[in-house]
Amino acid sequence: MKLVLIGGPGAGKGTQAKKLSKHFDIAHISTGDLLREQMKLGTELGKKVSEIMNAGGLVSDDIVSAMLAERIKADDCKKGYILDGYPRNVSQAEGLEAITGKLDKVLCFNVDDEVIVDRMTGRRGCPKCGQMFHIKYNPPKKDGICDACGEALVQRKDDNAETVRNRLKVYHETTAPVIDYYSNKGILAEIDGVGDIDEIFAKAVAALEDVK
Ligand SMILES: [Zn+2]
Repeated sequence: MKLVLIGGPGAGKGTQAKKLSKHFDIAHISTGDLLREQMKLGTELGKKVSEIMNAGGLVSDDIVSAMLAERIKADDCKKGYILDGYPRNVSQAEGLEAITGKLDKVLCFNVDDEVIVDRMTGRRGCPKCGQMFHIKYNPPKKDGICDACGEALVQRKDDNAETVRNRLKVYHETTAPVIDYYSNKGILAEIDGVGDIDEIFAKAVAALEDVK
């Protein structure tokens, strides 16, 4: 089973990718993790990536493609894999097909922008132990204080409304053509990404019923 997951920032795509990976016993491949992994391992590719990122540049599609081509040869990909975070544009989607062959399904998790803004701007994290809270949906017992260790909670700089709205705008602009591309191929399944994590997961599994 070869899947691609599409979803904006804060749409819960990573969470669903992990659950699907476990459920179907297929690999979860996040291109962001893949880049970090290569850098850590210090491979030739990793060194190249480090140089580019240290210079503030963007890693080219060719490099990501080369990494993906290697990654899907691994044992844990024999039954299939889920790509999370890639492709982000049509040119990458076309390049991807050359590596993977025909994909079985592309799941797109849709969440209303204002719901995302609400989700992301309410996040607070503990700088000491990493525990995450949400001022509305998962508040700490004491305002602004970590339940686990008593440290003062902080908001990530990126989690302010303006930055989140900007990221959403960029996401919609770049992803809309990718969504059309897969829709035209007849392999797109759009999933309502609002609500309970397990409910969303059940919808995703149902959308994959016809995939073997
Ligand atoms: Zn803490």
